[in-house]
Amino acid sequence: MRQVLDIAKKNGRWTECPSCKEVIITKKLEENMLVCPHCSHHFRLNAAKRIELTCDTDSFVELPIFISEKEHGDNVSLAQDEAIKGGMAKIQGCTCVIGVMNFSFKGGSMGVSVGQAVVNLMRHAKKVKKPLVMFCTSGGVRIQEGIWGLLQMLRTAQTRNMMGNVPMITVFTDPTLGGVSASFASLADIMIAEPGSRIGFAGQRVIESTIQQKVPPDFQKAETVLSQGFIDQIVDRRHMRDTLAYLLRWV
Ligand SMILES: [Zn+2]
Repeated sequence: MRQVLDIAKKNGRWTECPSCKEVIITKKLEENMLVCPHCSHHFRLNAAKRIELTCDTDSFVELPIFISEKEHGDNVSLAQDEAIKGGMAKIQGCTCVIGVMNFSFKGGSMGVSVGQAVVNLMRHAKKVKKPLVMFCTSGGVRIQEGIWGLLQMLRTAQTRNMMGNVPMITVFTDPTLGGVSASFASLADIMIAEPGSRIGFAGQRVIESTIQQKVPPDFQKAETVLSQGFIDQIVDRRHMRDTLAYLLRWV
């Protein structure tokens, strides 16, 4: 029996939940927005899937966010493999600017290109006077880019300050760490998290080796972060569209 399950898991028809170890039919899991029907574990999503699940059908229009505004022209190519996707979209009829980070590309890390994309999304939101919704997931700054990577924290935080009264909503998804949680992600007007997401600055292992102590199991979990007042709400993925639409009607 175990061998049959292994074969089914290998070809993708079955998926094992990493939290409760239940084996779920992949199609059923996808129908449930990649949330485990047994324990509500939220599986990680890539940017394209997140957009598909969040935005109204065919409403997402990608923006040329990977270049500076001065370079905008008619022949701009939109397709770029990066840790973020961004554009204009509608959520239950409410128009917004949306940015979705992609953990599967270099751990969703923020380098110069991602920083520029975030800055351009913020500038665009200000220009069209529409709220900005950011789905964040990141291991932090793209450390391979050295000081240029770190500089993106400053740039995004500075641009966020210049957005005036254009509202911004952040959705923390698993995991949001390092320079992303420590810059623009935590500067939103409303901060939401998916259940069980890890939100913090330095990772658990780094802290444990620094203080030479074990940290509690719920350390950096969204529920703990909420209890400490750092975020506003935890929302199940299956209710995310309703919640965002509700908020977008108010902001
Ligand atoms: Zn489960």
